[in-house]
Amino acid sequence: MRILLDPTQPFPEDTKFAVSYLRVSTKAQTETGYDEEGLSIAAQREANERKAEQLGAVIVAEFVDAAESAKTADRPELQAMLGFIRELGVISYVIVDKVDRLARNREDDVLINMAVRKAGAQFVSSKENIDETPSGKLLHGIMASIAEFYSANLASESKKGTRQKAKSGGTPGHAPLGYRNVRERIDGREIRTVAVDPERAPLIQWMFSAYATGDWTMRQLTAELNRRGLRIPATKKLAERPLRYQHVDKMLVNRYYIGFVSYEGIEYEGRHPALIDTVTFEQVQAVRTARAAAREKVQKHPHYLKGSIFCGRCRGRFGVMNAKNRWGTVYPYFYCLGRAKKEDCTQSTILIADVEVAVEDYWSRIQLSESRITAIREQVMAALVGRQHSNRAELDRQEKRRKTLQNQQLKLIEMRYADAISLEHLKSEQERITRELAQAQQIIDQCSTEIEAVIKVVEEALLLCANAHRLYLSAPPDVRRQLNQAVFARFWIMDDQVQGADLTEGFAHLLDPGIAAGLTEPSKDKAAKIENRSRPAKGRGRSTGAQRADLELVRPRDAIQRPHGPLPADTTNPGPNRDRGSNVTVLVSEGGLEPPRPIKGTSTSS
Ligand SMILES: [Zn+2]
Repeated sequence: MRILLDPTQPFPEDTKFAVSYLRVSTKAQTETGYDEEGLSIAAQREANERKAEQLGAVIVAEFVDAAESAKTADRPELQAMLGFIRELGVISYVIVDKVDRLARNREDDVLINMAVRKAGAQFVSSKENIDETPSGKLLHGIMASIAEFYSANLASESKKGTRQKAKSGGTPGHAPLGYRNVRERIDGREIRTVAVDPERAPLIQWMFSAYATGDWTMRQLTAELNRRGLRIPATKKLAERPLRYQHVDKMLVNRYYIGFVSYEGIEYEGRHPALIDTVTFEQVQAVRTARAAAREKVQKHPHYLKGSIFCGRCRGRFGVMNAKNRWGTVYPYFYCLGRAKKEDCTQSTILIADVEVAVEDYWSRIQLSESRITAIREQVMAALVGRQHSNRAELDRQEKRRKTLQNQQLKLIEMRYADAISLEHLKSEQERITRELAQAQQIIDQCSTEIEAVIKVVEEALLLCANAHRLYLSAPPDVRRQLNQAVFARFWIMDDQVQGADLTEGFAHLLDPGIAAGLTEPSKDKAAKIENRSRPAKGRGRSTGAQRADLELVRPRDAIQRPHGPLPADTTNPGPNRDRGSNVTVLVSEGGLEPPRPIKGTSTSS
């Protein structure tokens, strides 16, 4: 720990304080000042300082951790940092270089994040766009998952050499068309490297510039390249083949041609010469994307709300129809399919666009407040601590069992060599040991993945809830479909409004204060306590059993008004659309008055 400033000294009132946390992977690297990615501590420090400046904060202390691996949360400097910010209580930011320097599994990540937040600070990454904004947190979750995956992958020794090669700009595996894998002798040592293929490279360059003009389709281009003699060269297993559409498509997006190598999803600056300049490459991408979008438009997709929306009057499904007005403009409508069968359904046709907006608005209710998320996370973690202890004990027990079994196995073989036991005895004992080993392994696997899996699911769901409305608004139709299906079992539509909705079981649970109940099996009193704490007296007696009822939100049959049972989110975070005013279906007939436009704070009835 290096104290750079004394934050108790007088500073302008709005000064924000930060700490800088640097990390290198091995002890040796602290000594050389470089880490395995060739990134010096000095460069990390500089990046962190830049970030602090952007945030308008001053760095008061710096922490450098030189742990052997990122796998444990008990790194000395990390603990010192957490203690420091807790003690001072004035630190706003903890600036780190990259998320994967923080923790390489989700559990640690959550624990560290919680500790920092408890101390009133937040993590900021100098490299990635990760902060405490909801979208930042979503990104953080994703990045942490990637780091976890990456770390798991690091374990495989065989990949290490290849990874090292890619990191230093070498080409892993076969060089793409237009290049050749060659062997060179340097100082008597044979070195495998990549060179430009003088025959094929010009054809590749022609291909990119031709496609960039937009005059060629992929099929025309493939035919022409074949005509000009470009082939997929023979390999050990396959003879020379003609070029196909898919090959061309793949080549056109391959960034190797502009000088990058990529390995395990990570891109490195390659040592090979680029065949294509970036301007041409970007033009090619633009043409390609535009064409893909045009193709997409032609294909017919069922509307993303279909399957999620139901008639609030008769519980029927909706169909889609297109109506033309007298000027020939087509308007897509939803209409109640139940209406044809059930005489009593009075649901009129609804403009699809109106339903889309109504559902968008409805999503604002799913928002969980920051404090709610913190509370849920704390409950989950608290519930998991007990589980973790028993898991650890079980793991130890099973590891011991495994060792004992392995010893028995060795002893058996020794005895057999000494002719002390019969072959049959050996065989049956071997079988028993193999069986028991498999059992032990199974329990070990379960113990070590269970908690992580639970945390992951909860975290992902929380991230979704934290930012649900914005996420939904910015999502393309297919993602909207997924979001709707993940959170809502059904939307009940009445006229052009969402009258209510049923949550899916998982989200009903998450939005329910008794979240911890499902993770452990707490005594009834404990569950009741949680209930009391997060739900102050509402004048309505509510038993734990009754919670389900208000999550059902609305019974469509008697849905005449907006649901009066509060939505779980309503109690903590009233959304912007709460006072929509009267719900009398139509005050002014369609097309009357002015066109609708957003008016702050007022509603249609005023
Ligand atoms: Zn209906």
